[in-house]
Amino acid sequence: MIGAALDELRAAGIEVSTAMEDKIAYCKDYNPLHLYKLLKRQTPAMPDAIAFPKTTEEVSTILKVANVHGIPVYIFGGASGVIDAATPYEGGIALSTLALDRIEIDAENMLVRAGAGVVGGRLEKILNHHGLTLRHSPQSLFCSTVGGWVATAASGQFSTGYGNIENLIVSLTAVLPDGEIVTERAAPRRAGPDLKKLFVGSEGLLGVVTEVLLKVFEIPDETHYLSIEYDSMGEAVRGAKKLMALKPELMRIFDDEESLRYFDSEKFCLISVFEGRGSESRFNLARKETSGKVVEGYAEKWLEKRFNVSDISKIVPLGFVFDTIEVSCFWSDAERIYSSVIDEIRNVSGTVTASAHASHFYESGLCFYFTFAGLPENIEEYYREVWSRAIHASLKNGGNLTHHHGIGRLRKRWLREEIGEYASILGDLKSMLDRRNILNRGVMLD
Ligand SMILES: Cc1cc2nc3c(=O)[nH]c(=O)nc-3n(C[C@H](O)[C@H](O)[C@H](O)COP(=O)(O)OP(=O)(O)OC[C@H]3O[C@@H](n4cnc5c(N)ncnc54)[C@H](O)[C@@H]3O)c2cc1C
Repeated sequence: MIGAALDELRAAGIEVSTAMEDKIAYCKDYNPLHLYKLLKRQTPAMPDAIAFPKTTEEVSTILKVANVHGIPVYIFGGASGVIDAATPYEGGIALSTLALDRIEIDAENMLVRAGAGVVGGRLEKILNHHGLTLRHSPQSLFCSTVGGWVATAASGQFSTGYGNIENLIVSLTAVLPDGEIVTERAAPRRAGPDLKKLFVGSEGLLGVVTEVLLKVFEIPDETHYLSIEYDSMGEAVRGAKKLMALKPELMRIFDDEESLRYFDSEKFCLISVFEGRGSESRFNLARKETSGKVVEGYAEKWLEKRFNVSDISKIVPLGFVFDTIEVSCFWSDAERIYSSVIDEIRNVSGTVTASAHASHFYESGLCFYFTFAGLPENIEEYYREVWSRAIHASLKNGGNLTHHHGIGRLRKRWLREEIGEYASILGDLKSMLDRRNILNRGVMLD
């Protein structure tokens, strides 16, 4: 059956690979348990083939053929997702978006049209040559794609000032699971239903995003860095809330453990960046009004290392399991969420370290990003226990399930607690659009 389908795809001129090296590349995402398996020379899953469509029409052909033959299709962008999402547990076709790589800049309208498979770092570099910037910079900028950002509702380091990916999308084109292509007339804004939002955070359940029209910005010509030390997370959070009135473009709070690691400080350190015209006066006010101790250089130091994740590749082969859990909460719950989640993770036997920073801020609250590492006897049991305790602590104390990594398979057992009856609507939409349930089967929904 798969053989006949692949023959049809090749006959339609679509590039298809069944080479073992490609199958291994498309058998996992960046979930720690996948990395752990690979180190043991095991593959978490295995697709039968990988298809590399170059156009929206080729994506449509792949989905039509897969529907006829009832073959599961798993969508892959950069595979930097961390939530065990499109892992091809049932074989089938891994659909790589990487050849959907067109970039068209429209400087007059401050827009860029990018294929779903365009890798963020490449897009940012090309924009920079034109004096423009995306100002969407997840830490995975150099290994994640535009389509992946939309599908996971990604969040970048400058989100406090420029918004998350959903605030940057102007329009998009997608292919529904049955192969139908959907798009819309692009406009700066419209009233009426905005159904493209269905694809934001849908993790490939409802269709393949093939092209996205995004806002871009001029590269700011002025930047001011502010670093402040506080004695506790509570004080730092109150300081951050006050700073929000001055609209910093970037802000982060590191707890004492992470401050020691980054800045050699035993305090709770807040860093912020004010950029663009008029930023000097905002920066001066922030500096003058803070109740914390202003220090020099921390923000610049962090910015220099902000894409460096080499520590992970050093500790994982030593037998450590390492992961991050991000949740959001209102200001009123922040201190409680911080201490209860950290306590729960530290109480799991095998935990070596648990720490947190706050990385994205809103008028009404913030995102906490917890990091843990453990050296347990049984990695899989330990991992599940930490996740379970941390998520319960968040949900019990007013926090949520995920801020930007998404649901995948890892968090799907808590989906209903998070989105209530919307989970049923999502199920209905999935059955309606994907009658044979071929696309990203098992992601988010059972
Ligand atoms: C070191 C590291 C740092 C990270 N930092 C951040 C961060 O700062 N902010 C953040 O938000 N995330 C971060 N992430 C998580 C990850 O990079 C994001 O979730 C990213 O958006 C995934 O993009 P991708 O192209 O790699 O998607 P993939 O991992 O390939 O896919 C993720 C999900 O989206 C679906 N999908 C992918 N492309 C499409 C498409 N075109 N149409 C429909 N569905 C699609 C997949 O099927 C899957 O369900 C980080 C990950 C790592 C490993």
